[in-house]
Amino acid sequence: ISPHSDMGQSFGLDIGGTLSKIVYFEQAPGVTSRPRAKSHVLAAQEVSRFVKSSDNYGSSGVRDTRLSVTSETLGGTLHFMHFETRKMEGAVSQVANHSLSQSLRVVSCTGGGAHKHLQYANLIHEIAGIEVRKEDEVACLVRGLNFLLNVFPNEVYTFVNVDFGSLSATRMSLVRDNTDEDIFPYILVSIGSGVSVLHVTGPGKFTRVSGSSIGGGTYWGLCRMLFECTTYDEALDLCVHGRNASVDMSVGDIYGGAYEKFNLPATTVASSFGKMISVERAEVSDADIARSLLVMTTQNIGLIAYLNACIHGTKRIFFVGNFLRHNKISCRTLAYAINFWSKGEMKAHFCRHEGYLGALGAFLSQAP
Ligand code: ADP
Repeated sequence: ISPHSDMGQSFGLDIGGTLSKIVYFEQAPGVTSRPRAKSHVLAAQEVSRFVKSSDNYGSSGVRDTRLSVTSETLGGTLHFMHFETRKMEGAVSQVANHSLSQSLRVVSCTGGGAHKHLQYANLIHEIAGIEVRKEDEVACLVRGLNFLLNVFPNEVYTFVNVDFGSLSATRMSLVRDNTDEDIFPYILVSIGSGVSVLHVTGPGKFTRVSGSSIGGGTYWGLCRMLFECTTYDEALDLCVHGRNASVDMSVGDIYGGAYEKFNLPATTVASSFGKMISVERAEVSDADIARSLLVMTTQNIGLIAYLNACIHGTKRIFFVGNFLRHNKISCRTLAYAINFWSKGEMKAHFCRHEGYLGALGAFLSQAP
């Protein structure tokens, strides 16, 4: 980023199947390379005031205050917000009602929603008068991650010493020195509503190598259908105290202990939901079932990631996407699984801004 961004270039938008993500760059006062009209300065102040006036907007809008980053190099602060895509009309109306659209003419936008029958683009244009410029989703994702890796030294973390039973682990920041060689190649796994797997070999050099329909939308959709969860946070909280061992058939259940010949610990899940063939529904709690669902979804994604890392000879796997937001269980399960399957050869990496890579990439695509 350079501090040349003007009002039309302060935002990046990612319209996903479930969540829409916004990155807003607030230029620090006095950081400008060219003279500004007074109306421009006032409009910029109004946008900044509105964004920072609250941590919540409307019924689903959230500003992730813990993720804001101020940097001298950037000449300002990056703010991160999201809302449910199904509430798009309300969100765009808020922008229009607060006259924010007066200063926003064009917004770079990525995600499926940027393309979906022009539906959202038209909506944004009709209600708020803002033109949507479409950016490729995968390119934005990779651009966003490479930017974070290069600019924020404490962005990436991993888990070590994960105990599979309790999932206790040590979270460790991976501070890297600034050479591209130590990042590439890597596998990037984006866990949103569905899953995309990318093989990234250099800045702007990537291929989509795999994917899965079993992703964050699967967990949330099934929880909504099976239990009385009305929000995603309820669905995620539900599994925290559940025991998937009540629902899943483990190696120990089948062998009476570990399957030592193949180094499979007794706790390894042999069959997700496998115990339910003989256990009555009333004997297991909603929390146990939710936990089993979360572990099944996560392990399936982990396995796809691991196999792709094997195929492409890559040791580093980045897991991102909002499925991992506030989701320690999945992060630790992935870290354990990748370490276990690869016999310590590969490492699972996670990002603090896990859900905002696409929006960040869209924002960066327009920066001069
Ligand atoms: P997409 O771009 O497909 O919307 P995201 O990376 O934004 O993908 O991730 C969406 C997933 O994140 C959901 O399927 C769900 O598992 C999880 N999630 C996290 N927070 C929320 C939330 N507040 N509402 C709905 N889903 C959420």
